[in-house]
Amino acid sequence: MNRFVLMAAGLAALFAQSVAAAQFEPKLSFKPKPGERAVALTFDACSGAFDDRIFEALMQGEVKATIFVTDRWIRHNPGNLKLLESRPDLFQIENHGANHVPPVTDALEVFGIRSAGTIEAVKAEVEGGSRSIQAATGRRPVWYRGATARYSTDAMKAIADLKFRIAGYSLNADKGASLPAGVVQRRVQQAKPGDVLIAHINQPHRSSGAGVAAGIRALKAGGWSFVKLEDVEPIEDNRRPLIVEPHETTDQPDAMSATPRKPAVPARKPGDELKAAPAIDPAPPADAGAKAAPPAAEAPASPPAAPQEEVEVRPSMQIKPRPGGAFQPAPGAAWPGQISAPKAPSPAPPPAEPRVNP
Ligand SMILES: [Zn+2]
Repeated sequence: MNRFVLMAAGLAALFAQSVAAAQFEPKLSFKPKPGERAVALTFDACSGAFDDRIFEALMQGEVKATIFVTDRWIRHNPGNLKLLESRPDLFQIENHGANHVPPVTDALEVFGIRSAGTIEAVKAEVEGGSRSIQAATGRRPVWYRGATARYSTDAMKAIADLKFRIAGYSLNADKGASLPAGVVQRRVQQAKPGDVLIAHINQPHRSSGAGVAAGIRALKAGGWSFVKLEDVEPIEDNRRPLIVEPHETTDQPDAMSATPRKPAVPARKPGDELKAAPAIDPAPPADAGAKAAPPAAEAPASPPAAPQEEVEVRPSMQIKPRPGGAFQPAPGAAWPGQISAPKAPSPAPPPAEPRVNP
């Protein structure tokens, strides 16, 4: 690799860093009771269908969960919403937006999904999702989780002004339902007390859901308990900057296919994600013994973060700049995220898995 390429890569990393500084991926966890092994399962229903494998595991185990639904999903799954509503003791229904548009104003797209772009569009997305849930269930949601679970700073402020709490997560179980079942099951079983897990309940034809169901059954068999967000006092950390690699999606670029808008962003072709999805699951099932190699789907070890903040920033975010380049937090945005400089990564870390995004 010649010096020019290295220099260009460095500049690109610096540029990406400056862009990433304006977005956050909030963390959510809760304080379990002393001695209690409890987790909060949260599922996103972005669009698409309903994963009966997960639903049956929840029902059979009397496992509580919080389900984030979009208006789009509600319109296509009225019967499945009724199923969830029929067990309010188990299921809490919350807001995943109207049309699954990322509440981001400083990038054209996130994980291949066209972002809201303006605060007005963010508000329409949040309020549209809320209205739909209220119309269907009679209850106004109190939590909002944006498509892709990422937020620009001004969007976070707007969401708070609308009196919604932002539902982050602490354990990404399925990476947008992109991981194979064995990996997903192991990730679920790696939960710690107080974790808020994120996974997807709208992809019945992907392998991930089988792993979610198996992981739920394993935790249940192991004596874990499960809470809804309304059962606990969650701990929000809205200052967490982006901590994930581009491939660490929380969401599904192909599944939601937000309403096509301007053609400035190349549309994903059918099959793109299938080609890009990790074709690797070399690790054995979680019960195959402690000598199992670290899963190849895990990201490379990240540099240690300041312990009190759990903050790390990686320089390789792929965010397309909006023409005109407004990358600074909106004036007056009250989300003073403390962003530490990235520890210099090795120049060319080995790829852990193919990137989901081109
Ligand atoms: Zn989603």
